[in-house]
Amino acid sequence: VAIIRHDVDKKPENALKMAEIEHSLGIKATYYFRTTKGVYHKKIIMKINEMGHEIGYHYEVLAKAQGDKKKAIALFEKELQELRTLVPVKTICMHGSPWSKWRDSDLWEDYDYSDYKIIAEAFLTLDYNSIYYYTDTGRRWDGGLYNVRDKVKTNLQSKEVRSTYELIEILPTLMEDISLNSHPQRWHDSYGRWLFELVGQNIKNLAKKYFLKSRNQ
Ligand SMILES: [Zn+2]
Repeated sequence: VAIIRHDVDKKPENALKMAEIEHSLGIKATYYFRTTKGVYHKKIIMKINEMGHEIGYHYEVLAKAQGDKKKAIALFEKELQELRTLVPVKTICMHGSPWSKWRDSDLWEDYDYSDYKIIAEAFLTLDYNSIYYYTDTGRRWDGGLYNVRDKVKTNLQSKEVRSTYELIEILPTLMEDISLNSHPQRWHDSYGRWLFELVGQNIKNLAKKYFLKSRNQ
């Protein structure tokens, strides 16, 4: 089994392009949309859904409510309801902003997402001891060093993968299921925008490395 997940943090038009490419290859993926301005693009969300992809809710309510869980769950209900006026939503995935003080999935220490007819949370429901998890966070596939929130608990020993070419080589050799997460805003078809992402992300990775270091001290 391969779960193809996309966190749509920015640039919904990139998500639409990616959805079209996958659709043309017969691949069904899940697109987790934030409800923030500039990302929450109703037409694009519905279009992606019509292609047969799943739409999920990329929630960040605990961060928005500055850690107030009561406020956060009310906001969760409201945003989920709004998204459900467009498309069916059965799964959710926290948006793990590296700079935020709050981990959004902590909301489920006090509340139960199944009360909202949600069947899975991408970080909590899956058992990553039997699923290899690869994410493009930090603009690399093995960015553990730079990764603040986009992490899973696992005993599996992942093979080191730096480039997408390496990933393509390795995937068929893995004996377990896989979960692959990519952010459509990082993927470009022009050299200029690709270079911009490269330089920008290298600077951000350095910042994240020192941020993690200072937090662990
Ligand atoms: Zn996100």
